[in-house]
Amino acid sequence: MAKIGLYIELQDGVFKKSNRELLSLARKGDHAVHAVIFCADVRPYLEELQGVQTVIQVSGADLSYQPDRYACTLATIIEEFQLDACCAIYSAQGKDLFPRLAAKIKSGLVSDCLSVDLEKRQALKPVYSGKLLAEYQVEGGRALFTVRPNVVPVTPAAGGQPEVKSASLHDGEPRTRIVQVMQSAAQKVDLTEAEIIVSGGRAMKAQENFCLLEDMARVLDAGVGASRAAVDAGFASADMQVGQTGKVVNPKLYIACGISGAIQHFVGMKTSKVIVAINKDPEAPIFKKADYGIVGDLFTVLPLLKEELKKALG
Ligand SMILES: Cc1cc2nc3c(=O)[nH]c(=O)nc-3n(C[C@H](O)[C@H](O)[C@H](O)COP(=O)(O)OP(=O)(O)OC[C@H]3O[C@@H](n4cnc5c(N)ncnc54)[C@H](O)[C@@H]3O)c2cc1C
Repeated sequence: MAKIGLYIELQDGVFKKSNRELLSLARKGDHAVHAVIFCADVRPYLEELQGVQTVIQVSGADLSYQPDRYACTLATIIEEFQLDACCAIYSAQGKDLFPRLAAKIKSGLVSDCLSVDLEKRQALKPVYSGKLLAEYQVEGGRALFTVRPNVVPVTPAAGGQPEVKSASLHDGEPRTRIVQVMQSAAQKVDLTEAEIIVSGGRAMKAQENFCLLEDMARVLDAGVGASRAAVDAGFASADMQVGQTGKVVNPKLYIACGISGAIQHFVGMKTSKVIVAINKDPEAPIFKKADYGIVGDLFTVLPLLKEELKKALG
């Protein structure tokens, strides 16, 4: 029976929502699942981790994310527990950690997967800025995968309590050290995990006008994104940028307001389940890609839409 490792990501001690997708993915098929979690106290997370065979709790004096320490620790765990494959979320941390881990254990890594078959060690991922989907097969050795958030249907945690084993954080001197993590002042919802995103483009005209999007986001419990043109113009912060050189998002609903639909923006949000576009130009490319389009001035449409949504959502 194959042994699968899952890197469970915490953000300030909070269990990231996308971990549930990794767990759901690992529940499919007949393999032993080992969840690795770096924390001082594993008890608050055990309910979420029901059904996995083993939880490997990594403890140490300073558990803050340090790439070298985490990669060395995971490499040791993979060797000790003889894990055949290992998955992480394709988050900022997953993107940083897993390539280091792959280099350390000299294994293949498929990043940003839209689906993974852990038995066959196959994965599907976008390539060439999302123009193509490529199927990858990891041959031999250990297989590492990072999985894009919001692609795996979540199944409820079920099964017995896992056995908890402990491991120690690698305490060697790291070659790189994270000295500061800057929290975005504005962003309350993590865009990469958001189920709904309202994004604004150059047509927002000014930073103050983003309050229209924030109002809408409050009604929908959504995140607020932006095009690069809006970021470059100083209307929105860089961490809000969606696209090729920004964040790749995958919400259930993406509302693009005053965004033309350039390919570099589109690759960052094309896997959204439903795309709604508001644009005053009926010829705007975004309408070719949107499921629903509203031709109109966003400054008129947005307040009306917000009021209607408020009524509809009670
Ligand atoms: C290497 C590279 C990387 C890039 N990476 C990214 C990236 O990551 N993300 C990204 O977004 N872009 C990226 N770009 C830029 C991209 O090519 C576009 O320039 C950018 O996405 C355009 O942003 P926009 O749609 O907001 O602006 P515009 O193209 O100027 O479009 C504004 C739209 O708003 C509409 N409009 C105007 N007024 C109103 C109104 N009152 N109501 C309704 N609609 C209105 C217009 O009809 C128009 O369609 C990249 C470009 C390059 C070369």
